[in-house]
Amino acid sequence: MSGFEWRRAVIKIGSALIAPDGTQCSAKYLLAIARFVTESRQQGKQVILVSSGSVAAGRVNVPTRHSPSIAEKQAMAAIGQTRMMANWARFFDFPCAQILLTYDDLRNRTRYVNVQNTIRELLAREALPIVNENDSVAVNELKVGDNDNLAAYTALVAQADTLIICSDIDGLYTADPRKNQDAKLIPEVERITSDVFRLAGGAGTRVGTGGMRTKLEAAEKCVNSGIQTLIVNGSKGEVFDSLLAGKVQGTLFFAQEPQDNARTRWLKHTLKTAGEIVVDAGAKQAISEHGASLLPSGILSVNGQFRSGEAVHIRANDEIVAKGLSLYSSDDLIAIKGLQSEKIEQTIGYTYGKAVIHRDDLVLL
Ligand code: GLU
Repeated sequence: MSGFEWRRAVIKIGSALIAPDGTQCSAKYLLAIARFVTESRQQGKQVILVSSGSVAAGRVNVPTRHSPSIAEKQAMAAIGQTRMMANWARFFDFPCAQILLTYDDLRNRTRYVNVQNTIRELLAREALPIVNENDSVAVNELKVGDNDNLAAYTALVAQADTLIICSDIDGLYTADPRKNQDAKLIPEVERITSDVFRLAGGAGTRVGTGGMRTKLEAAEKCVNSGIQTLIVNGSKGEVFDSLLAGKVQGTLFFAQEPQDNARTRWLKHTLKTAGEIVVDAGAKQAISEHGASLLPSGILSVNGQFRSGEAVHIRANDEIVAKGLSLYSSDDLIAIKGLQSEKIEQTIGYTYGKAVIHRDDLVLL
C-alpha cells in the first residue's frame, strides 16, 4: 500500500457504484463514500464529487425496447440528474451544489474562470460541489463524453491536488483480472507510458461509459499537471478506511511535478509585477505560515499603479514575502486598505470577493 497526502480532491464515482443494477440510484455503495467525504472535510480537507448516474436514474421513466436514441438518453439524464443529486443529499448535513458542465464550458476561457470561481465560492461556503456532464443539452462534439475525463478536467479547473477515481475494480492490473487469473494489481505507477496504456483493456461495465482506458487518460491529464491520481475500488468500504489513514489500496499514479509547479513557475518567473502591497506583521504571518489569502484588513499601503488581475509583490517591512495576482486595482486598494472585507462593497461600490489576493493566486518567495 502506498502512503499519500492531500488537501483538495476530486472524487469520481461511476455509474456502477451509483446504479449497480443499471437502473435507479442506490445507496448500497455510497454510504462508505459519503462517510469518507464527511470525515475528510472534518480533517480540513476539501472535496468535490464528480458523479455519474443520471442516465441510469432516469432510465425507468423512458422505457425503450431498442437501444435509446440521443434524445431519449438526454431525457433520461434530465429526469435523472435531480434524482442523482437527491440520492447524495440524504447523506450530508451540508448543502450539495450541482454543477453541470460540458466540454464547451471548459474550452471557453471566460466560462472556465467562472466555473473556477463558482467552485471556489462553494468550497468557501462549505457546500459540496457535485459535478456531472450536462447530458441533456450537449451534443457529441461539445461533450467530454465520459466522467473519468470530466473528473480530470474538474480537478484541473478546481486546482485540486488529487483525483480519486472510484470504480468497481481494484485498480490497474497487469492484465484484465476478469479474464486472466494471473493478473496482478499494480500499486504504483511512476510514469504513464504507452506500455501502461497497453494494459488497459476495452470497455468497462455495462452501466458506465468509461473503461480502464478513459481512467488512464484522466490520470495522464492530471499527473502531467501535478495532480496525483488514484484508481480504487469504491465498492469496498475498507478502501476508504485506508484512505482516511493515508494509505492507498489500489493504484496510485504519481504527480509528475510538485502540485503548483507550472502555475507557480508562471507566476514567479513569467509575470512582471506592476506594484507592491505593503502588509502588516499579522498578514505576513497568515500568508507565510498559515496558507491564508491576503485580506484588505492587513494592508498598510500600496506602491505603484496596477489594474485588477495584475501581478504584485507583497512586502512586509523590507522583505518581499510573496507574489500574487491582485483582484483589486491599486486605486481600489488605497480605498479599502485596513478595512474588514465586509466593507469592500459599501466603500468602492462592488466586490470581487473577500480576498485581495486569493491563496490559489499567491506564491511565497
Ligand atoms: N454523465 C453520465 C451520467 O450521468 C455518465 C457518464 C459516465 O459515467 O462516464 O449518467
